[in-house]
Amino acid sequence: MRRLFAIEDGRFGLDGGAMYGIVPKPMWSKVHPADDQNRVTLALRCLLIRDDGRLILIDTGIGNKWPEKDAGFFAINRSQSSLTGSLAQLGVTPDDITDVVLTHLHFDHAGGVSGLNDGVLVPAFPNARIHVQRQNWDWARSPSDRDRGSYRPENFSLFEGSPKLRLLDGPGEILPGVSSLISNGHTFGLQVVQVEYPKGPVYYAADLIPTSRHIHVPWNMAYDLNPVLVMEEKRALLDRVIAGDGVLFLEHDPDFAGCRVRKNDKGHYQPGDRFQFNGDY
Ligand SMILES: [Zn+2]
Repeated sequence: MRRLFAIEDGRFGLDGGAMYGIVPKPMWSKVHPADDQNRVTLALRCLLIRDDGRLILIDTGIGNKWPEKDAGFFAINRSQSSLTGSLAQLGVTPDDITDVVLTHLHFDHAGGVSGLNDGVLVPAFPNARIHVQRQNWDWARSPSDRDRGSYRPENFSLFEGSPKLRLLDGPGEILPGVSSLISNGHTFGLQVVQVEYPKGPVYYAADLIPTSRHIHVPWNMAYDLNPVLVMEEKRALLDRVIAGDGVLFLEHDPDFAGCRVRKNDKGHYQPGDRFQFNGDY
């Protein structure tokens, strides 16, 4: 029987203005207060799918290859959780992971797929196949100047040409009961992951809808390469979640792991019942 666990790799902080784009600070700071450097705290929340014979991890957090100065800049804080620590609490070691699905290769999603051993880059999950969209892989290797800072080759270059790397061509099944929808608004070839579950599907939205605040369609990140497309893709995903009686999984929400979605009488999307994903939702 399939089980679902939220796996946190600590917290980090990004500029609140960048997280909320054109939304004025007096509005966003009411629902997501900034620190003295204008950063908002964000979760680094992965999803572990435990099947009979398979352990699938979706995204890998920010990783631990950061020099102290950068770790301070991004307010990386593992005092409450870490990727390996959260897995260990479930009795899972990195060797046990059979598959890693990366939504995209930005550093706060693919940072934990590689590690350093005596200064040498090594796969963090030595037995896992890495599933990523070819379109995103290609973009990550030659990004635009606008998003170059988010694609750090030390996170993924070691998989170049590796038999462990599986490049996917478009939407469809990745693994049994795990499939992808493609989003090109935040970056190119981001895969939103649909996870089948008896109570209704779970949608790992990644940076298409990073927190519950971003469920409101006009609230988008300044990082998005194509914000108008993001709004269209968000609407389509939210309608799909509602229609399928599904749950949205929120990678960066500081408060909860996932929620149902409802539409209010003005037609605005809002978070419904909330879930923490401790094996079930
Ligand atoms: Zn992110």
